[in-house]
Amino acid sequence: MPTRRQLLQVLRVLPAAALLAGPRARAQEADLLKESDSEALAVDYHADAARVDRSRSPQYEPGQTCANCSLFGGEAGDASGGCGLFFGKQVAAIGWCKAWEKKA
Ligand code: SF4
Repeated sequence: MPTRRQLLQVLRVLPAAALLAGPRARAQEADLLKESDSEALAVDYHADAARVDRSRSPQYEPGQTCANCSLFGGEAGDASGGCGLFFGKQVAAIGWCKAWEKKA
């Protein structure tokens, strides 16, 4: 059974350990946007662009994904990243929504 002193020592180290884990590790902890979330439904977000129904989203063009959208905050090669539309949520790099805009 750890002593109170040992517990306090662990609690002091945890924030430093979280910082050392780096932004990628922290980003992975963030919630992934779900297709069923109300904000995702509003823009027809799909976690996999290959499943976009072009009869419902005719503006979708094959090859468009979150990874090549100007609002995607992830780095090249990341499986997910932030999106300017969804604060505090991550979107899949292979995802897509109606707000897609070509990355410059
Ligand atoms: Fe993906 Fe861009 Fe839509 Fe965000 S705005 S979900 S990055 S396509």
